[in-house]
Amino acid sequence: MVHVRFSPSPTGFLHVGGARTALYNWLFARHHGGIFSLRIEDTDRQRSSEEFTKDIMAGLQWLGLDWDKGPIFQSQRLETYNRYVEMLLSSGKAYYSEEEGKKAVRFKMSDDTLEFKDLIRGTITFDASLIEDFVLRKADGFPTYNFACVVDDAEMKITHVIRGDDHIANTPKQLALYKALELEAPKFAHLPMILGEDGARLSKRHGATAVKEYMELGYLPDALVNFIALLGWAPGDDRELVSREEMIKDFTLERVGSTSARFNKTKLDWMNSQYIRQTPSEELVRLLKPFLSRAGVNVEGVEESWLKRLVELYKERFKTLQDFFLQTSFFFTEEIEYQPEVVDKHLKSEEITGLLHEVHDALSGLEEFKKETLEGCLRGVVERKHVGFGKLAQPLRVAITGRTVSAGLFETMELLGKERTLKRLSHCLHTFCRAGSI
Ligand code: GLU
Repeated sequence: MVHVRFSPSPTGFLHVGGARTALYNWLFARHHGGIFSLRIEDTDRQRSSEEFTKDIMAGLQWLGLDWDKGPIFQSQRLETYNRYVEMLLSSGKAYYSEEEGKKAVRFKMSDDTLEFKDLIRGTITFDASLIEDFVLRKADGFPTYNFACVVDDAEMKITHVIRGDDHIANTPKQLALYKALELEAPKFAHLPMILGEDGARLSKRHGATAVKEYMELGYLPDALVNFIALLGWAPGDDRELVSREEMIKDFTLERVGSTSARFNKTKLDWMNSQYIRQTPSEELVRLLKPFLSRAGVNVEGVEESWLKRLVELYKERFKTLQDFFLQTSFFFTEEIEYQPEVVDKHLKSEEITGLLHEVHDALSGLEEFKKETLEGCLRGVVERKHVGFGKLAQPLRVAITGRTVSAGLFETMELLGKERTLKRLSHCLHTFCRAGSI
């Protein structure tokens, strides 16, 4: 039975690289109907914190990467590690050493050549004589990563270790330990690192790297999972939108490349917008509410059905949940700001003033403020004025939204409502347009 684990050290927030390691382990387990365990490697007492443990677990849950066993905390397993230390001490394969004035235990490295067949990179050989005797138990009584990792992987009967290739250099030490303890080593698969768009190792300077940041920016977990899955794995054809079920069905380590993948933010944004389109509007409303609240909207005061219509109007336009408000903020306020350049370009001409006056009058008389009636009314205005609709559309858009880009004009007006539409129009006529007041 396949048994894999994600075993983060809680010394930082869950980042994209960690999430990919977790995801590949999870997919591998689900593909094979095996077990996915979570193990918290908190043996570095100075650098580990509960805050990071919580963040990692919350991040995995948000991504939908449920674990079958655990979390197992290494800090609670000192007795077990000590048992193995004793075994190695009594067989002469480990010895006491002095570290910082206190007693530690070191492993006596043998001089053999160590070799293993990595499932992604092929055979890797190490000259063990180049590796010095390494610490198993530190002076503070806690095990080192390499030692605890081997004891736990062996005790948990982990069959495959799938982790970042920054651990390749640790593998010979771990293999030597398996040998010394007469335990069978698992199979290893080392994932190439993730690069930023410039080809350098992905880091904070490339932008958001923590899963939490993506959550706060309003990416959908399914979109992020899809995107992260493709950072090194391909489903075997050129599909880019791959559902979880398809991923589980198609995930194999053979399809994980041995070259580093690049993190392409534009692709992530595209993918997120695709997932947004696929999400039912009611669900989007639910997901958007906390983002609107955070942006200062009194969500309680917003009518649910109106919000759903607004979401539908913008569904193909917003890239993240946060982006929704950025694009629709003018719907949530009474007053809007007008950029002087935009006003100069679109509102300041006599012809426009005349048109907008006419629009104001025509709209004032409308009983029903609906898309169809609005369209009929505005088309009537341009006909009377003998101009094309294009002449009116942009100035009107600017007048009622403060922007040059928005969703369809008639739908926008309908959702804004008569009162606000007229108020904004007359504000513009009074403030920016040349000819006198209404
Ligand atoms: N605690 C290690 C890390 O966070 C895990 C390495 C492993 O999977 O063996 O990088």
